[in-house]
Amino acid sequence: MTSHSPALRTLDMYIDGQWVKPASGQYFETVDPFTAQPWAMVARGGAPDADRAVRAAYRAFKEGPWGKMHPSERAKLIHRLGTLIEENADALAEIEVRDNGRLLAEMQHQVRYIPKWYYYYAGLADKIEGVVHPCDKPALSYSRPEPLGVCVAIVPWNAPLLLLSLKAAPALAAGNTLVLKPAEHTSATALKLMELVEAAGFPPGVINVVTGFGKEVGEPLVTHPLTRHVGFTGSTATGAHLYSLAAKDVKRVSLELGGKSPNIVFDDADLDNAVRGVVGGIFGATGQTCIAGSRLLVQRRVHDQFVEKLAAFTRKARVGDPRDVRTQVGPIANKMQFEKVLGYVDIARQEGAELLIGGKRPDGAECAQGFFVEPTIFTGVNNKMRIAREEVFGPVLSTLVFDDADEAVAIANDSEFGLAAGVWTRDMKLALRMSDRLEAGSVWINTYRDISYTTPFGGYKKSGIGRENGVEGIREYLQTKAVWLST
Ligand code: NAD
Repeated sequence: MTSHSPALRTLDMYIDGQWVKPASGQYFETVDPFTAQPWAMVARGGAPDADRAVRAAYRAFKEGPWGKMHPSERAKLIHRLGTLIEENADALAEIEVRDNGRLLAEMQHQVRYIPKWYYYYAGLADKIEGVVHPCDKPALSYSRPEPLGVCVAIVPWNAPLLLLSLKAAPALAAGNTLVLKPAEHTSATALKLMELVEAAGFPPGVINVVTGFGKEVGEPLVTHPLTRHVGFTGSTATGAHLYSLAAKDVKRVSLELGGKSPNIVFDDADLDNAVRGVVGGIFGATGQTCIAGSRLLVQRRVHDQFVEKLAAFTRKARVGDPRDVRTQVGPIANKMQFEKVLGYVDIARQEGAELLIGGKRPDGAECAQGFFVEPTIFTGVNNKMRIAREEVFGPVLSTLVFDDADEAVAIANDSEFGLAAGVWTRDMKLALRMSDRLEAGSVWINTYRDISYTTPFGGYKKSGIGRENGVEGIREYLQTKAVWLST
């Protein structure tokens, strides 16, 4: 980490409608995972910056125009922000690629879809209604949802702008104010978004961004006495830690955490279709998605045939420059994660899993600098192995065999996680029975990795608490007040 590099552009934080330097005066490098070279210096925020941002958000909530605005006026601002994201989609996608190495085409597609969250929740902002209760006392009793106040959103590096928007759009539509903390590796799009927030005309303090490391600036946001809600997306270990910190002050939390999702292929499935789904499920985003279908369960009768097809399809995948439209698998987002993924390849080998393909940095000059790992498939995995139980968060697939639906369910549910599952079969009764029995927040049948702003998303078990998206998504950011009026 460098504290100062005059050659690189510096990225300041955005607090109370102003671009501010960190109290520490320090900056750290953000690195392009394709070149492994730093491309900007990011403000290293700490407790004083967290305090400044939360207080600004609190003032904006209590004293600023935001709190007094009619929801339809807030909706206009949120909608305008969505429009500005749409207009700046290419620039935002470029920045995402520079920071996290995701494919440019994939990020352009993703960023163009993000405004839908802002439009959807802007549409809900003036439709949050209360209820008059049939009361058994001589009183009028009604209840109405109210915003919580200052919401803190902490997100990881794999899809920075998307994951931040899943929180920002409903939180703002519910009338709250926000402090966002992007991951230290990928702060740039959140800051670019603040230029758009300014252009949209949000009052100062409604949305703030602090940057830096989890312990240094993330924890002070979570423990700040004026913070009322913590929305966290990230690893289960960090989520559990923040949950315990928030519990001390009885703060509301929403946690979107890790996964080890099973992708279950029955012997009657359209195998070619399933191959495409399984490959997209694990190698899309270079395996760096919480919903990665990292455990492949194949019915015994088609196991060998399916694995052969899968290997043939995967071998054709072009790994390389994320900005090249021909590339199908880009680099891992940062060095630490790159080393972690290769570490899991060693662990799997030591555990006795058979390496079918991949398992190392690809050959050739294009992948020589960046944090590349070949798409990797292990067979002969059993559910006791670490490679089947722990989240790798990289392009590593573990293949297991099952005989019947009962065994598939038993293996699938034998996990501390419960984020998602895929089922591939032509038998719709079987598919629906499987969807009943699988312990997962999302079940995809003959498809994988679909998400939408309309459909609740979240985890069972250690994959999280609460739901994002849809009408359920906005309820996370509201609390109910009951009013009694004597009659
Ligand atoms: P991480 O938990 O290390 O970090 C996530 C964020 O938390 C970062 O902004 C980081 O700075 C911050 N953080 C870390 N320690 C903190 C602390 N003590 N206090 C406050 N903030 C702290 O996760 P990661 O490795 O960056 O991201 C990958 C993880 O995210 C995977 O486990 C993945 O499954 C999960 N994820 C979940 C979803 C979902 O919706 N369920 C989506 C994407 C990623």
